[in-house]
Amino acid sequence: MTNEEFRLHAHEMVDWMADYLGNLDQYPVTPGLHPGDIKGQLPFSAPLDGEDFKTIFSDFKSIILPGMTHWQHPGFFAYFPANNSEPSILAEMLTATMGAQCMLWLTSPAAEELEERMMEWMRDLLGLPKAFTGVIQDSSSSATLVALLTAREKKTDFAINRRGFPSAGRYRVYTSTQGHSSIDKGVKIAGIGMENLLKIEVDSAFAMRTDLLEEAIIRDIAAGYIPLAVVSTFGTTSSNALDPTGEIGSICEKYGCWHHVDASYAGTALMLPEVRGLMPGIGRCDSFVVNPHKWMFTNFDCSAYFIRDKQALINTFSILPEYLKTAEDKLVNNYRDWGVPLGRRFRALKLWFVIRTYGISGMQLKIRNHIAFGQWLKAEILKTRGIELMAPVPFNLVCFRFHPEGLDDEISLDDLNEKALKNINRSGKVFLTHTRLNGKYVIRFVAGQTHASQETVENGWKHIMNFY
Ligand SMILES: *Cc1c(COP(=O)(O)O)cnc(C)c1O
Repeated sequence: MTNEEFRLHAHEMVDWMADYLGNLDQYPVTPGLHPGDIKGQLPFSAPLDGEDFKTIFSDFKSIILPGMTHWQHPGFFAYFPANNSEPSILAEMLTATMGAQCMLWLTSPAAEELEERMMEWMRDLLGLPKAFTGVIQDSSSSATLVALLTAREKKTDFAINRRGFPSAGRYRVYTSTQGHSSIDKGVKIAGIGMENLLKIEVDSAFAMRTDLLEEAIIRDIAAGYIPLAVVSTFGTTSSNALDPTGEIGSICEKYGCWHHVDASYAGTALMLPEVRGLMPGIGRCDSFVVNPHKWMFTNFDCSAYFIRDKQALINTFSILPEYLKTAEDKLVNNYRDWGVPLGRRFRALKLWFVIRTYGISGMQLKIRNHIAFGQWLKAEILKTRGIELMAPVPFNLVCFRFHPEGLDDEISLDDLNEKALKNINRSGKVFLTHTRLNGKYVIRFVAGQTHASQETVENGWKHIMNFY
């Protein structure tokens, strides 16, 4: 493709992008296809000769687009959002255009220094202590793995990095029964062993019971285990439950455990002073992760990871082959040593565009609105007969189930709700997902789309009620 052809197609594409974003509600949120439907339309092998861009783009529209789940759709209330925004998309265009690989300061000084500054902005925005240093990771899963590895190395004076595990099964990690599956994955990869991940029971609000946490730690120490880390959650995936991070912090300090706070989704709400008040002591942790790629209008992927002991992180990951040595090594951050991959995308640019476009007040307004939509839906459910609220609603995730009067058999209720959800989603107007709380099938509704409004939320709720 020549430069002139690129210019032409890029203009066409931008028009298409703006049309897409402006007409999202015309698409079904989910495609409703069968496995293989898309693959069956793709040739068995790569073309021998190059094809022209018109054909490729036309195939994108006819084959790929109908096979997409539209995550930015106003009827998308599933999982947690991966919301983006116009400024973030524009930044991604520039990032792709420059195509820089930002592993060292030298490989793009602006990328490294902007990332440093953005992480300082984020730290202050969320009210985290100044002692924290931030770095962008590709995902929360990576950040949690990095936290567990750093905890492991700090605890063993970096011996496992050098010699491998002395013997299996000596270290313990704790989270609640509501902790995210990325913790299980991190524990597996870090060589700690799934049997050494203890899932602490929760209270009626699905928050970790600190009395049981402390009992488990005491029991483990008596049995010869070494308590390594506690992963607490600020906003669990199932119900947005808030673990008492302050109390967990004190327990960790008492027993010399690393405390990692997984605030992947709800961490964004900490930019509101009134939410920060809910969570005294959240800064008493060793590491903290929040995903701007979930609820902060920034394209996937962008995960902000904060750590108190930056040197422990670097000592855990640093590798310095001759070909990567630079004259500035002592003066700058070389982010290749701050996580698992060597190569890194330039992710700070989109964050910079987003934060500057909305400003702190603009982002706070959006987050406050989203929380208000959640509270509106909660109130709506509480006054509707035949619908049951299934968990507290701290922010904008509402867990509910249909519960017709007189039907109290749990198996029938599970069945009814599973079928209802299938029908609701089949409409293509909205997309919701489910979880289980106390063993019960529960439908989740998240109002966190960038352009969510009272209208999109009420429309979504109307569709749900129509199909029930
Ligand atoms: C989404 C989520 C994760 C995983 O995030 P990734 O960035 O996709 O790895 C971890 N923990 C919680 C609480 C989450 O909601």
